[in-house]
Amino acid sequence: MGIEQPLAPLPPGAQQDVVLGQVTDTLKERGFVVANLDKVVNWARTGSLWPMTFGLACCAVEMIHAYMSRYDLDRFGVVPRPSPRQSDVIIVAGTLTNKMAPAFRKVYDQMAEPRYVISMGSCANGGGYYHYSYSVVRGCDRVVPVDIYVPGCPPTAEALIYGVLQLQKKIRRTGTILR
Ligand code: SF4
Repeated sequence: MGIEQPLAPLPPGAQQDVVLGQVTDTLKERGFVVANLDKVVNWARTGSLWPMTFGLACCAVEMIHAYMSRYDLDRFGVVPRPSPRQSDVIIVAGTLTNKMAPAFRKVYDQMAEPRYVISMGSCANGGGYYHYSYSVVRGCDRVVPVDIYVPGCPPTAEALIYGVLQLQKKIRRTGTILR
């Protein structure tokens, strides 16, 4: 007997508890577990999304709030990394300038697949306040493919966390090992 899927309406933490409870019970009873490999891979992926720290402007302050003790993104397995080689996701938090764009693309290219992009705030989403500026890229999706857009100027820390949860949902929905 394999591991049953948790009920859909449960929040992610509770879903994980249900799955771990089922794994423990099955191991105690039979000594082995049968599971769908796609689901195990996606469970591991969504539970350890390590973002590249990429604060570009004021939005980065809200991103930092999301990592601090009040919101504590770590509890979702989201731990900021200083290197693109260790990162699964890049949170573009702030204004992307023309001058910064090549460096941004280089960092993105250095991340291993599967990699994801969260565009945080009006500036990253479409140039925002500086849309008509000579020096600003009108949306980071002109440079890399974006998975999740978080609106706001700046978006709150809660909005970013909601964006991360949406990305987890998207990864689960994709349901394949290869992206
Ligand atoms: S969206 Fe607003 S808060 Fe965020 S970087 Fe642009 S101007 Fe700053």
